[in-house]
Amino acid sequence: MRASERAVEIVRILSEEYPGARCMLEYGKVPYRLLLSTIMSAQTTDEAVNRVSPALWEAYPDLVSLAGAPRPEVERIIHPLGFFRAKSASIQGAAAWLLENTGGRVPESFDDLLRIPGVGRKTANVVRAELHGLPALIVDTHVKRLSFRLGLTASDDPARIETDLEKLVPPRSRTLFSHSVGFHGRRVCTARKPSCAACVLASLCPRKGLA
Ligand code: SF4
Repeated sequence: MRASERAVEIVRILSEEYPGARCMLEYGKVPYRLLLSTIMSAQTTDEAVNRVSPALWEAYPDLVSLAGAPRPEVERIIHPLGFFRAKSASIQGAAAWLLENTGGRVPESFDDLLRIPGVGRKTANVVRAELHGLPALIVDTHVKRLSFRLGLTASDDPARIETDLEKLVPPRSRTLFSHSVGFHGRRVCTARKPSCAACVLASLCPRKGLA
């Protein structure tokens, strides 16, 4: 089976296995909060962000108050997420950027999203998929690990992985691929102890990098 055929089959199997696969960040359907939550989710889990973000939105309920908030107070609130200094700078910088450049609207184009402080390709793809319904390959830690193990890429560079996956996963399946592979990575193909014997992808998986 060619890699592109395997990729399509992987999406089919995982979408049946995880019919509820979706973005897990809770942002109350306020677009800028999704953007800022995704920035805060670097190097931690969506669940951790969901525990912390309500206090941030309560203290600073709009972009103006958040952009102008005392930095130490923002750092104190998001401290549990790790990298709290850099993340505080990014979310306040992003809030100020949105106010100055778009009146608070979250842009749709990749180029515009990448101009926002703290926004990289992963965050841009989350936003494009979740807010704008556009096809997006979201290369987070799970998609990165599983794409390698499944033999869909030989790279560990997220931008290169995204390019490799673009050749294999059709646009209509990209967001579903990202979310369902993410779910599988949290539940079965974990970083430390993948449960290959119980894995629905076992017959399709070369288990690259595993002994
Ligand atoms: S067979 Fe093993 S390595 Fe491959 S996707 Fe399943 S759990 Fe991961």
